[in-house]
Amino acid sequence: MTVQVEVTADSRFGTNSYLVFDETTKDAVVIDANLEPEQVIDVARRRGASVKAILLTHTDVDHIAGLHELREAFGDVPVVVHDAERAVVGDGVPLRREFGPIATRIDNVTTFEDGAPYRAGSLEFEVLHTPGHSPGGVSLKIDGFIFTGDALFAGTVGRSDFANSDGAALLEGIRTRLLAQPDETIVYSGHGPATTIGRERSTNPFL
Ligand SMILES: [Zn+2]
Repeated sequence: MTVQVEVTADSRFGTNSYLVFDETTKDAVVIDANLEPEQVIDVARRRGASVKAILLTHTDVDHIAGLHELREAFGDVPVVVHDAERAVVGDGVPLRREFGPIATRIDNVTTFEDGAPYRAGSLEFEVLHTPGHSPGGVSLKIDGFIFTGDALFAGTVGRSDFANSDGAALLEGIRTRLLAQPDETIVYSGHGPATTIGRERSTNPFL
C-alpha cells in the first residue's frame, strides 16, 4: 500500500475535499464533499482512481454539499459517517438547530463501527471519535496521515459554540486521541493548510 493524498478546496468556505488513494491498486476514497466536488472528481479521473467510498468527518453542510455529484460521478458507493450523525445524511435531519433543514437525503449510508478500522479496497483507516465540534466528529488515520475534519486545524481548533457542540469534549478528544499520535504525523484538516501533530502540540495556543 502506497498512500497518496490530493487536496481540493472550495472557494466559498475553503472546505477541503481529499482524494486518498493507493498508488499500487488505485483504490481510493473521498473524504468530505465540499461545495466544488468537480475538483476532486477531476483529480480522481486524472489519477485513474477507483473510488470505493465517501467518508465524512462530520455533516456540516459545507462537508456534505457535494455528495450527490460525487455519487453521480463514482456510482452508488457507500457514504460512511459516525452513527451520531447518520440521520443527517440518511434522513435529512438538520445537524444544527441554528440552521434550517438541508435538502440532502442520501441512500447507501453506512456507519463507522466503534473501535474497528474502516476498510475500502486496499485502504484501511483507523477511526478515532473526536466529537465536540459536532457529536459524530471523527478523525481518520492512514499511513502517516490523519484527517481531522473540523476538530483540529493548523494553529486552532474547531468551533464549539453551537447548541450541540461540546468544547470540553473537543479538547479531550484532541488531547487523548490526536496528540497521542507521533509528532511527524501529517494533519489534513477540514479547512486550511496541512500541519503536523508535533507542530500543533508545540505551537497551537488552544491546546
Ligand atoms: Zn467545516
